Amino acid sequence: MKNHIIIEDTKNCCGCGACINICPRDAIGMKECELGFSYPDVDETKCIDCGLCRKVCVFTDKGTGANGEPLVYAAASKSNAVLLSSSSGGIFTELAEAVIDKGGAVFGAAWDESLSLHHICVDNKSDLAMLRGSKYVQSATENAYRAAKELLDGGRYVCYSGTPCQIAGLKAYLKKDYDKLLTLDIICHGVPSMKMLKDDLSYVAGKKNINVKDIKFRDKSYGWGVLGSLTGDSSKIKYHSGTSPYYFYFLNGEIYRDSCYNCRFPAEGRQGDITLGDYWGIRQELAAEMGDVDIDKGVSCILVNNDKGKRWMSQIKDKLLIAGSDRKSAEKRNKQLTHASVPTPEHNALSDMYKKKGYEAFLYWYKKHYKEHVIGAVKRIIPAKIKRQLMQAYSRLKG
Ligand SMILES: Cc1cc2nc3c(=O)[nH]c(=O)nc-3n(C[C@H](O)[C@H](O)[C@H](O)COP(=O)(O)OP(=O)(O)OC[C@H]3O[C@@H](n4cnc5c(N)ncnc54)[C@H](O)[C@@H]3O)c2cc1C
Ligand code: SF4
Ligand code: SF4
Ligand code: SF4
Repeated sequence: MKNHIIIEDTKNCCGCGACINICPRDAIGMKECELGFSYPDVDETKCIDCGLCRKVCVFTDKGTGANGEPLVYAAASKSNAVLLSSSSGGIFTELAEAVIDKGGAVFGAAWDESLSLHHICVDNKSDLAMLRGSKYVQSATENAYRAAKELLDGGRYVCYSGTPCQIAGLKAYLKKDYDKLLTLDIICHGVPSMKMLKDDLSYVAGKKNINVKDIKFRDKSYGWGVLGSLTGDSSKIKYHSGTSPYYFYFLNGEIYRDSCYNCRFPAEGRQGDITLGDYWGIRQELAAEMGDVDIDKGVSCILVNNDKGKRWMSQIKDKLLIAGSDRKSAEKRNKQLTHASVPTPEHNALSDMYKKKGYEAFLYWYKKHYKEHVIGAVKRIIPAKIKRQLMQAYSRLKG
C-alpha cells in the first residue's frame, strides 16, 4: 500500500498545502479539478513513500490545535486611513504593524499581476497594503509554510494570517509552537475557486470594457458592507451581487470548495491565537460603549483565543476603540462561528452544470432566477446608512 496522500474524497481536502510543504522530495504538486479547485498530486517517480504528507494532513482530525473559550471584543482602529482600506475594523493591520515594529514579517493573501491570489510575506508597513482587505477566493499557500518556518527558526517574529484551515495546516507543518509566532484566523464560511472568479471578471469587466487592475470585494468608499469595486487603467466600476453571478453565489454559499461544507473548524474552537471577523449587529448591541466610533467605517469582531493572543492585544489596545462582548453575542449574527456552510440544492446543480458548461452555467442560473437575485442584491447593495435614513423617513411618515 502506498503511504503518500491520495485524495479519495474531495470534501476531505481543503487545499491548505501542508503536505506539499512537508514533502522532502518536492514530489507533490497541485492539480486543478473541473471546478478550478486544486488538489495535491503526487509524482510517483520522486516519492520515497515516507508517509510524511499523509501524517501532516489534519483537516479531518477532530480536536487538533483548537483553542479554548475566547475573550470577545468589538473594536475598530482609531486610524481613519487603516479603517478605510480594511474590510472590517482594521485590526489585522494594527496587529501586523506591531509585529513589524519588532522586526518581524507578516504572511497574508495578496493579488499578483494577473489577479491570482497567493500567500506572500512582507516585512515593511507600506507593503501591508497588498495584504489588506478580504479577497473572496481561495489563496494558494505554495511554499509559505516553509518560508515562515525558516524565519521562525532564524529567531524572527512572524504573523501568519489566513483561513482557519490554513492556520491548522501551518501548525501541523511546524509541529511545535513558537513564542514569536502570532497566528490570525478569519471567520470563514468558504472559498470559491480562482477559475470561477476569473471567468466572472471577464464577464463583468468585459461588459464595461474595463481592463481590471485591482479588485476590492469590500470597497469602503461605499460604506461598510458587501459592495466591491473593479479598478481599471482609468476607471472604476462597482462590483456586487447585482451584477456579478460569482459574488451573488459566494454570498449565498453556493460555490465553495467541497471541504468548506465539511469544515470542522467553526464547531471546534478557533485555530488562530486571535480570530478576526466583522461585528455585524454592533449598532444594536455595543456602539454606545465604543466612544466616538463611526460604525459606517466598519467594526471588527475579535476573539482572543489564548494567552499569546492576549499579549498581542495588550500591545495594540491604545490604537483601538474597543468594547467587551461575549461569544453568544458574536455568534448571534455570525453563524459561521458555530457551524459549517450547508450545501444547498442550488450548489449541487451549479457544480454539475459548471463542470459541463463552465461559466455559461453561472449565467444561465443567474438569469433564470433573476427576480430573486435582484431582490437579494438590492437589499445587500443599499449602503446601511441609506437604509437607516429610509427607515427613519418611513417611521416619520407613519408617525
Ligand atoms: C473568504 C473569506 C470569508 C470571510 N467570511 C467572513 C464571515 O462569514 N464573517 C465574518 O465576520 N468575517 C468574514 N471574513 C473576515 C472579514 O471579511 C475580514 O477579513 C476580517 O474581519 C479582518 O478584517 P480587518 O479589517 O481586520 O483586516 P483586513 O485588512 O480586511 O483583512 C485582511 C486579512 O485577511 C486575509 N485574507 C484576505 N483574503 C483572504 C483569503 N482569501 N484567504 C486567506 N486570508 C485572506 C489577509 O491575508 C489579511 O491578513 C471573511 C474573510 C474571507 C477572506
Ligand atoms: S495537507 Fe492540506 S492540501 Fe494536503 S491533503 Fe491534507 S488538506 Fe489537502
Ligand atoms: S510519501 Fe513522502 S516523499 Fe512521497 S509524496 Fe509523501 S511526503 Fe513526499
Ligand atoms: S470554510 Fe473551512 S475549509 Fe473552507 S476555507 Fe474556510 S476554513 Fe477552509
